[in-house]
Amino acid sequence: MSESEPESQESITVVLPDGSELEVPEDATVEDCAYEIGPGLGRDTVAGKLDGELVAKEEPVYDGVELEIVTEGSEESLRVMRHSASHCLAQAVERHYDDVELAIGPPTDDGFYYDFDNLDVDEEDLAALEGEIEEIVDADYEIEREDVSIEEAEERLADEPYKLELLEEFADENDTVSFYKQGEWEDLCAGPHVDSTGEIGVVSLLEIAGAYWRGDEENTMQTRIYGTAFEDESDLEEFIEQRREAAERDHRRIGSEMNLFSIQDVTGPGLPLYHPPGKTVLKELESFVETLNHDAGYEYVETPHVFKTDLWHRSGHYENYEDDMFIFDVGDDEFGLKPMNCPGHAAIFQDQSWSYRDLPIRYAENGKVYRKEQRGELSGLSRVWAFTIDDGHLFVRPEGIEREVETIMDMIVDVLETFDLDYEMALATRPEKSVGSDEIWNQAESQLESVLEKRDLEYDLEEGDGAFYGPKIDFAFEDAIGRSWDGPTVQLDFNMPERFDLTYVGEDNEEHRPVMIHRALYGSYERFFMMLIEHYEGNFPLWLAPEQVRVLPISDANLEYASEIADRFDEFRVEVDDRDSTLERKIRAAHDDRVPYQIIVGDNEQEAGNISVRDRFEDQEYDVSIDDFQDHLEAERDEKRTEPDFLQ
Ligand SMILES: [Zn+2]
Ligand SMILES: [Zn+2]
Repeated sequence: MSESEPESQESITVVLPDGSELEVPEDATVEDCAYEIGPGLGRDTVAGKLDGELVAKEEPVYDGVELEIVTEGSEESLRVMRHSASHCLAQAVERHYDDVELAIGPPTDDGFYYDFDNLDVDEEDLAALEGEIEEIVDADYEIEREDVSIEEAEERLADEPYKLELLEEFADENDTVSFYKQGEWEDLCAGPHVDSTGEIGVVSLLEIAGAYWRGDEENTMQTRIYGTAFEDESDLEEFIEQRREAAERDHRRIGSEMNLFSIQDVTGPGLPLYHPPGKTVLKELESFVETLNHDAGYEYVETPHVFKTDLWHRSGHYENYEDDMFIFDVGDDEFGLKPMNCPGHAAIFQDQSWSYRDLPIRYAENGKVYRKEQRGELSGLSRVWAFTIDDGHLFVRPEGIEREVETIMDMIVDVLETFDLDYEMALATRPEKSVGSDEIWNQAESQLESVLEKRDLEYDLEEGDGAFYGPKIDFAFEDAIGRSWDGPTVQLDFNMPERFDLTYVGEDNEEHRPVMIHRALYGSYERFFMMLIEHYEGNFPLWLAPEQVRVLPISDANLEYASEIADRFDEFRVEVDDRDSTLERKIRAAHDDRVPYQIIVGDNEQEAGNISVRDRFEDQEYDVSIDDFQDHLEAERDEKRTEPDFLQ
């Protein structure tokens, strides 16, 4: 630590993102700090982040806090604007409907929502509400923050039972609360907000859904109105277009059309069941990473779905993760479904003694994990309670980080390129609060940087965004309709080896701590599978397609020849459509089932001993030699080509 200066009574120090320090008066707000840095910045300030938490610009700072100023045009400022748009929605609703009770109205990743009780509204009413919001925006009401006492707040909220409930909790720790007022309307809210409703760009209301108060199905079902807001019309149009495309590709619909998976009331929420065609795709995905893992020297391990909570205490998950875990008693012991695979793998490593010559040790497991998301948030395969990670954990000597990370990066890039996914990378470095020595952090970060530099690839440096237990490299990739996804990750960990007292004996005959590396190539199979379904619209590449080839006999006279052909192609997933139906209908059915190739056999083919081939893009070729087609299929499958290309 640097030398401590004598503390002056009325000044405190805040830390800026570049690490420099700013001295400000004790009662300074976020906005005051911005003006202190520069008047231009002061004027542009929308909100602030105190130790990573988004707050209003009126919020006072405190000594030692990490301060980030949120200005117009940033991602965070979009959130602030959307939160302000949610207030306009509530104001519009209260202008149009009587006796509505307000619940909450936060921003989301791509918009906002507001929950109302006692509101009877349907999709047709949204246009009128949108019009009202537009008027509120045009009126350019000043958005004023007012801090009031708890008693005063209780009076103002006398008709708002849900707000009162929120107030009650808040009152335990605070003497005052803030209201935000615009025109005739106000809301209990911590903020932050834009300065006036005129600063809100274009607002669009998207849909209405039911939502339980606080996500708990024991509570009242309320009416949730979803919307979004953008700076300008063209951004909104782009968003609406992407949403339309996403809806057309919805994995829940395609998943049911192709019989890939189901999620049923009787089996429970967020608990996907994979049907044979879906499991076929998953098995191909699994075997792809199994090959990569094998080539990179990983060994497979297997751990159960449930552990005694002693393990979760030791790993630290119990303290930090308890609310997201399924925990239950058996006799006198407490158990929990595993939310992560890492502690199990650490326990396996710990069970033996290791020499530096044994390292690195690389464990892999397709490990099922369970995380208790709010029921209202569950959706298809994108938000689930049970999912499988293509997990890998490595135990390496500190000086060996670079080599291992390099191999992992190669594997991740291999996976992303196989699916034609463009990607970006980011290196997240040491945060303010962290465990581990300066030496290990510097050593690790410089090795990660060196891996990235060597590839000559651009990457974002996210300073201070690493986990408290180690730096990491995150990947973000883009699907066919331009949506951004995360999943693949390389995370260094200096904490778990401490907690599990993991050691190896070094060349010096002393005990040393290995560094643990967590890595996943897909991330969660569920999310990756969902992404692939929508990325390809269910038209999987040959190697992934649940049914790869379908043989269509033109008439019953060709049935026997059809089954001979199917036998010739039995190294593929092949079916014969032997239904009593017209060729036209059979072609249609194969197309609807998204089968990459159809082999059509009639009298001509039977006599000539060849086949006709048709692909799902409606191209057809006659007089095809069986051997030629077979060779092509093998190559297309084994090279994991992204599109059927026999007839291209
Ligand atoms: Zn609010
Ligand atoms: Zn892990």
